[in-house]
Amino acid sequence: MELENAKNTIKKAAEKLNLSKETLDIILNTEREVKVNFPVQMDDGTQKIFTGYRIQHNSLLGPYKGGIRYHPEVNLNEVSALSIWMTIKTATLNLPLGGGKGGVICNPKELSEQEIENLTRGFIKKIAPVIGPHKDIPAPDVYTNSKIMDIIVDEYSKTEGIPIEKAKAVVTGKSIENGGSLGRDTATARGGQFVLKQAIEQTKIIPTLENATIAIQGIGNAGGNFAKLISKDNAKIIAISDSKGAIHNPKGLNINKVLEHKKQTGSVMNTPDTICMTNEQLLELDCDVLVPAALANQITEKNADKIKAKIILELANGPTTPEADKILEEKNKLILPDILTNAGGVTVSYYEWFQNINQEKWTAEKVDEKLKEKMQNATKEILDKKEKYQTTTRIAAYVNAIERLSRKLEN
Ligand code: GLU
Repeated sequence: MELENAKNTIKKAAEKLNLSKETLDIILNTEREVKVNFPVQMDDGTQKIFTGYRIQHNSLLGPYKGGIRYHPEVNLNEVSALSIWMTIKTATLNLPLGGGKGGVICNPKELSEQEIENLTRGFIKKIAPVIGPHKDIPAPDVYTNSKIMDIIVDEYSKTEGIPIEKAKAVVTGKSIENGGSLGRDTATARGGQFVLKQAIEQTKIIPTLENATIAIQGIGNAGGNFAKLISKDNAKIIAISDSKGAIHNPKGLNINKVLEHKKQTGSVMNTPDTICMTNEQLLELDCDVLVPAALANQITEKNADKIKAKIILELANGPTTPEADKILEEKNKLILPDILTNAGGVTVSYYEWFQNINQEKWTAEKVDEKLKEKMQNATKEILDKKEKYQTTTRIAAYVNAIERLSRKLEN
C-alpha cells in the first residue's frame, strides 16, 4: 500500500510540473533491490535464518542514503516506499545524496543484545558489496541506534578489509566516540521544531508556540526529544504516548516526570496526575498541534474527520494515508509533511558524513546553526510553492524535490 501511495504522490506532483514520461519513469522506478537471507547465532546455541532488504531507489543527486529498521513487519513494499521517501527527502533539503532504505524482519524486543549484534553483523556481511562511503550510507531508523551503527562500521571494515578510520563514513548516526556528529541524536526532533516555528511565523495559524497545546503520539527518539525541546519553548504538551497507550492532562504534562516514570516502569501509562487513554484517542484530542511521531498509517479515512488539531506535524514517516490527507485538507488543516518535518535526521547525517570524509569535528552550535538554516529555507520554499501551485503542502514539497531531480536529468 505504501509503495502505491508514494508513487501516486509523485505522479500528482509530476502533473503540476508537466514532467516528461521518461523523467517520471526514472523517478518512479527503483535502481536496485537487494534481498538477503543470512544465519544468526542465537543465545540458546541454535542458528536461525533472518531476511533483510536494502533498497536503493535513486542516486541522481548522490550516494544512496537512508536508515535500516529492525521490525517484525518489515517487508519489500514498505522498505521500497521508505526508500522513495528518502530520495524525495534529500532532494527537499537540497543535499547531495540519493535515497535508499533497509530493514531486517525481526522483533528486537525479543532479541538479546548479543543476538542483535550477531544479526547486525550477519546482515552487513551480506550487503557489504552494495554499501560504502560513496555508494550507499545507512543510518538508524525504527529500533536501530548508535550502538548498532558502530557495529556496522566494525563489520564493514572487517568484511571489506579496510581500516576502521576509512570505514567510518559508511554509516551515520554513530556514537560520538566512534565518529558520530554532535546533534545527530536530537536532529530529527530539532528539525521538526524549526519547521513548526517557521510555519507558525509564516502562516499565523496559531499566534506562537508559547502556550500552544500539543499532543504527541510516540516517545521514542523523535517524539521524546521533540517533547523535551518544545517544553523549553513553553509549549503545553497535553498528551504523549508509547506503544502501550497514551496519557493526557489538559493543564499540561511535566515531560521530565513522564520520562522518569517510563524509565522506572517501562511505560508512560499511569504517570501520576494524568488520564490514561488509547493512542487512537490521543489523535482526536482538542489541541493546536498534533505530532504523529510513531509508525505509519495512523491517521486514516476512519479518524481523519475527528482530528481537531489545526496543524499536523509529521515527525514519523508516512503517518497520514492519502484518503486522510484529502479529508484534512478539505478541513483546512495545515499538514507539515514527513519528507520535510523529519528531514533533520538525514540533514545532520549528511553533516556527520561530511565531517568523517574531511576529518573535521564541528561544534554542537555549528551543527545547530546549519540545521536551522536548512530547515527554515526548505519550509519557506515549500509554503511558497503551496501558494504558487495552489496545492497541498505535501504536493508542494514533492514538486520542489522533483524539480531538483529532473534538473539533474536534463543537465
Ligand atoms: N532514518 C532516518 C529517516 O528516515 C534517517 C536517515 C539518515 O539519516 O540517513 O530519515
